[in-house]
Amino acid sequence: MTTTAGSAERLPPALRTEALEQLLTERGLIDPKAMNGLITTYETNIGPLNGAKVVARAWTDPEYRRRLLEDGTAAIDELGFGGFQGEHIVVVENTATSHNVVVCTLCSCYPWPVLGLPPSWYKDPAYRARVVKEPRAVLSEMGLELADDVRITVHDSTSEVRWLVLPEQPPGTEHLTEEELVPLVTRDAMVGVAKVAAP
Ligand code: FE
Repeated sequence: MTTTAGSAERLPPALRTEALEQLLTERGLIDPKAMNGLITTYETNIGPLNGAKVVARAWTDPEYRRRLLEDGTAAIDELGFGGFQGEHIVVVENTATSHNVVVCTLCSCYPWPVLGLPPSWYKDPAYRARVVKEPRAVLSEMGLELADDVRITVHDSTSEVRWLVLPEQPPGTEHLTEEELVPLVTRDAMVGVAKVAAP
């Protein structure tokens, strides 16, 4: 026998979201135009490019890098990025011996102002549960092999704190300008599931 509650639970998330949005609109709790504007902004206007600009600046300006690691939110704000879902961003640095990777074990908290919306694998329950317990294996499955002597730290995002990884600058790119470095920096490297490759 199928109950109403049971079938509602089996509705795809997109449909449930739509139903919820309709309900909230009818009650005058949200303005659909504002909702659409917000979604478009984060889907198309704000993406990992903002984060890439932050990383490229840190690679080319040691003073900025120092400020970024000391107070991520303030240093990111210097470049004009911040706000919703990025009120408190902590930046951690990957080096040859220390690797940082980010997850939200509870849901999908993510630093929107610098990375845009999270990719589907970030929201995947398997990634969220496993990367904490066996980060080396998960990273390897995602194509990132780390030597045994590299220390891995997993950072669990919350609604309070969002993490951004400052990836290692690939060797041989020291002569490149900030503008030339920006396109090398990938979203995955800033979550810590990949390294930045030299061009
Ligand atoms: Fe979350």
